[in-house]
Amino acid sequence: MDWQRLPAFYFFVIPAILVRERGVVMKPKVGIPRALLYYYYFPLWRAFFQSLGAEVSLSGPTNKTVLGRGLKQAGDDVCLPVKLAFGHILELAGRVDYLFLPRLVSVAPGEYICPKFLGLPDMVRQTVDGLPPLIDTTVDLYRRHSSLWPTFARTGQRLKCGRWLVYAAYRRALAEQGRFESLLRAGRPPEQAMALAARDGNEQPPETAEQPLVAVIGHPYNIYDHYISMNLLQRLRAAGVRPVTAEMLSEETVRREAATLPKRLFWTLSRRMTGAAFYYLRDARVQGMIHVASFACGPDSITGELIERRARREGHVPFLNLTLDEHTGEAGVVTRLEAFLDMLQRCRGGGVPAAGPCRDGAPAAGTEETAGRAGCALPALVPSAAGGGNFR
Ligand code: SF4
Repeated sequence: MDWQRLPAFYFFVIPAILVRERGVVMKPKVGIPRALLYYYYFPLWRAFFQSLGAEVSLSGPTNKTVLGRGLKQAGDDVCLPVKLAFGHILELAGRVDYLFLPRLVSVAPGEYICPKFLGLPDMVRQTVDGLPPLIDTTVDLYRRHSSLWPTFARTGQRLKCGRWLVYAAYRRALAEQGRFESLLRAGRPPEQAMALAARDGNEQPPETAEQPLVAVIGHPYNIYDHYISMNLLQRLRAAGVRPVTAEMLSEETVRREAATLPKRLFWTLSRRMTGAAFYYLRDARVQGMIHVASFACGPDSITGELIERRARREGHVPFLNLTLDEHTGEAGVVTRLEAFLDMLQRCRGGGVPAAGPCRDGAPAAGTEETAGRAGCALPALVPSAAGGGNFR
């Protein structure tokens, strides 16, 4: 051994190894837009980056300015949620070191996700000036035994973190996502579930008074964004109605219901929405259904039609189709909602229905989900109760 080199070994090499394994040195800020699949996977990414020592910066809630900037920046031919995502990206661009925009190809075996998710990092790169470096690692779980680990490993590499640290962060992220999804199944809205999941406590299920149920079927980035949905869920609650959504159902349930279609739907979000709508149409406690679609969304035009046909054929509840775009006025939505709620009251004589057996033997809404006995609430990215899925 060359003893003269020992000091260099102690002063440079060992600190470098420690820094590499302990985390990123400068605590970089990673920006995550509050848009698109933020409503499904934010806890996963937040826990991962925080475990690596990074600071996670989230764009603020949607408002008129954010939407306006997105509309100006994005092309005319994209759907409203993508335009809105541009607004959130612009809000973050000047104040973070990295922007996290994963390239989502597939989040469930044998299925794809809308191509807009796949192309988003390229659209953003081509149209937005002054962007921080993008972390656009690919998520592709199309093949049966594919795993999320390579995506996390590449993301960790971008932040120059050691492999063991990245693996530990990955395991922590999965655990947090699992907690988040149990809370969603128990009926918590996503943003409340995110806050609770980060606390790692055993939370009691929310108090649910016996109220009429209305199924709200739509993409999470439409129905849970207060500004875009014009507070649809809050308005329903204020009217004494409990909204139930696809996120409160297990993956098993929505798959089983979607499988009643003569042809398989290979778009994950559309399959989830259709399966959830079919389930709720057979649930005797669900008194009405609202389908929320985005203008210029190709998948929504198909799923909307499938759901509406089934509702006409088998459902015996009022059905409201709401299509949102940047020109949708609040007054128009409120008027239609009021008419819909009046119709519910007239159909049911204005009273709260007694809990009873469901149509065709389907379990009652809010029973299967809160019992928490089913598998995963979200497709593939979420570990099933049996520990399966794509996490190994
Ligand atoms: S599924 Fe529809 S709303 Fe969602 S990103 Fe694709 S086109 Fe837009």
